[in-house]
Amino acid sequence: MVCIACRHPTSDMWLCKSCNLPYERAWVVGERDGVLQRLIGLYKFQHAREAHKILGDLLLGVLPDLPPETIIIPMPTVSGHIRERGYDHMLLIARYMARRRGLKLERLLYRATDTKQRQASAKQRTVQAMQAFAVRGDIAPDIPYLLVDDVITTGATIKYATKALRDAGAKHVWVAVIARQSLK
Ligand SMILES: [Zn+2]
Repeated sequence: MVCIACRHPTSDMWLCKSCNLPYERAWVVGERDGVLQRLIGLYKFQHAREAHKILGDLLLGVLPDLPPETIIIPMPTVSGHIRERGYDHMLLIARYMARRRGLKLERLLYRATDTKQRQASAKQRTVQAMQAFAVRGDIAPDIPYLLVDDVITTGATIKYATKALRDAGAKHVWVAVIARQSLK
């Protein structure tokens, strides 16, 4: 296996020691190419709403048995994208997974887009919006939280989202991602 963030070979569940990532455990279905790439494209950009079940099953297939108290958190989507798509794509997947595994889902994370600064450039604002997360609701320190996302590229988004949960008191944040986008 390779590290989810730096891609160096690792024996330890997608995480290497030197990256010092804020999450404890991580699982990835595969690289973003071939069938997986097409499936994600259909689901995110071609209104193939029902594909959430296939993608949810793929994620469930790479996950081990999770403690019954585990709470699933969907990665929050920028609201404009939800409007365009007609559905919150990660919420649908996370809900499906929670139902299949009999786990609880809580929408604890949201995008704190109001942290935008006026003097920031458009690009900076996008980066800020992508990276600014806030937690809504109570965090129980000892419960594992499984954050579910579609694609990991640099890993920055997942890192910031995890950091928000950690700052709110979560000790155990795990992540499950459908595909890893290669850096080109
Ligand atoms: Zn690494």
